[in-house]
Amino acid sequence: MGALKIEPISQRCAVCQAPVAISPVGRPRLYCSNRCRQKAARIRQILVGALTRLELLNMQLAPAIDWSDEDHRVA
Ligand SMILES: [Zn+2]
Repeated sequence: MGALKIEPISQRCAVCQAPVAISPVGRPRLYCSNRCRQKAARIRQILVGALTRLELLNMQLAPAIDWSDEDHRVA
């Protein structure tokens, strides 16, 4: 019987889903290229920025909500 060829565990680029070759040494790569790595960093930046804005919005809105209104209705 033919010898079974052991393939290295293939990984896919987190951005474009292209197969990423895993080298036996060094850290596993998440992205196929520098371009994808930069793109991922940019997306992460946008996401963090959006989340921060949402949190700021939340903080601004929270005091404006009059929760005591519920109590008045009950009483
Ligand atoms: Zn990629």
